[in-house]
Amino acid sequence: MAPQFGGKVALVTGAGSGIGRASALAFARLGAKVVVADVTPEAGEETVALVRAENTDAFFVRADVSQRADVENLIHSAADFYGRIDFAHNNAGIPGAQALLADYPEEIWDRVIGINLKGVWLCMKYELQQMLKQGGGVIINTSSVAGLKGSQGVSAYVASKHGVVGLTRAAALEYARNNIRVNAIAPGTIHTAMIDRFTGGDDRMLQQFAEGEPVGRLGTPDEVAQAVTWLCSDGASFITGAVLPVDGGRLA
Ligand code: NAD
Repeated sequence: MAPQFGGKVALVTGAGSGIGRASALAFARLGAKVVVADVTPEAGEETVALVRAENTDAFFVRADVSQRADVENLIHSAADFYGRIDFAHNNAGIPGAQALLADYPEEIWDRVIGINLKGVWLCMKYELQQMLKQGGGVIINTSSVAGLKGSQGVSAYVASKHGVVGLTRAAALEYARNNIRVNAIAPGTIHTAMIDRFTGGDDRMLQQFAEGEPVGRLGTPDEVAQAVTWLCSDGASFITGAVLPVDGGRLA
């Protein structure tokens, strides 16, 4: 049987680590060719090697998603090389500072909004232009549980992830008649490098996080990636403008 995504092309940002790497690998296992984008070349090239080990093609493009020229080059390189972009997972993001709103440093606010929100908008802008040209496609944006409810001490992150939900819904409506579906995922606490940096490798803090989850454990990057590839599949053909929690019940 032909692989489900055989002949398809997937583009993933922030694909050098965590959820983005797992997403690139999940697309690869379903037979898609993968455009691996990240701001860190070594990490991105590592993901390319892992994707190729799944017997599909991939290449790396260095792109800082907050920079218009980088994003334009990323999308044009992908479209020039593979001829199309069927699936785009706009996933690159940073947590920002831990500070109450009144003390939140302005330069970190600008950086978080620049990468997490403007970055998603820039990626969508050029992906949509390509998808309109080719007659369709699917976009998945990585929001967060913090895109659907508040959280203390991370106001820029919360604002950026709520913004991603808004962009997803607006774009879903604007392109619903163009065979383009746009959805978001809202991961709960997923065990990635982002969480390890946050806990500073403190196993007790990690254990506390796990105990605070309804399911008593953190999620894995692959559990998020499975939701991403399913939302891209024909099984999700009537789903657009949705925000899917992948959170072990946290929002329940
Ligand atoms: P991670 O730190 O493991 O990976 C993030 C990747 O994004 C890295 O490879 C990094 O180099 C890249 N990146 C950072 N800034 C970039 C930029 N400006 N341009 C391009 N690439 C850039 O993080 P993760 O946990 O895999 O998080 C991925 C996404 O999932 C983020 O948007 C994050 O906010 C979101 N998320 C994570 C969790 C979690 O618990 N880990 C929960 C909810 C949402």
